[in-house]
Amino acid sequence: MANAIQTVAVYCGSNNGYGESYKKSATDLGKVLAKRQINLVYGGTNKGLMGVLASSAFERGAHVTGIITDRLKAKGQVHPNLSTLETYPTMQSRKARMIELADACIMMPGGIGTLEEFMEVWTLNQLGETSKPLGVLNTDNYFGNLISFIDHMIEQRFLPSAHRNGIVVHSDPEELINLLIKFSPVTVKKWLD
Ligand code: AMP
Repeated sequence: MANAIQTVAVYCGSNNGYGESYKKSATDLGKVLAKRQINLVYGGTNKGLMGVLASSAFERGAHVTGIITDRLKAKGQVHPNLSTLETYPTMQSRKARMIELADACIMMPGGIGTLEEFMEVWTLNQLGETSKPLGVLNTDNYFGNLISFIDHMIEQRFLPSAHRNGIVVHSDPEELINLLIKFSPVTVKKWLD
């Protein structure tokens, strides 16, 4: 059965990364979201790829919700062009709200914040607390080493092999959204012993 995806949460770098390809990829993802009339939920800042993605989606008519902490807002890091802005007192409450609004979550290139936020949702899915379709936008194979490490977890029996299907991976935003629509949650239990 196809998943109805009206709103996507995107986790990505508050830096731009090296070269032009990551910025291009953020722009392209914003274009695809706007074209497909999918709402964007993200961290609310104008910094790095987060800002590039939000600008691209907003300029093309997508509804963009920024969800930021009071502290980051006070630092003046809110994106000037958002459809909706919500502020929360803590990173924890902010992340919970992003998950609550999202029909699916995407990670694109970023740093430890990006990884942590995406892994939190994967962990919640694994424990059966959520069942969000999860996608990795693998621009220029940025996540190749992470995917190898996930395979290592499976080989070393810290992750059941069926859970490799708990995320879909593609370098093209349009194809990634198509995979999220077809995504089936993993129902195999997480414990191997
Ligand atoms: P990083 O990948 O370490 O650059 O962190 C990016 C992730 O952390 C994003 O998905 C955001 O949710 C959060 N984050 C980091 N910096 C900011 C910021 N200036 N404003 C809002 N969220 C941020």
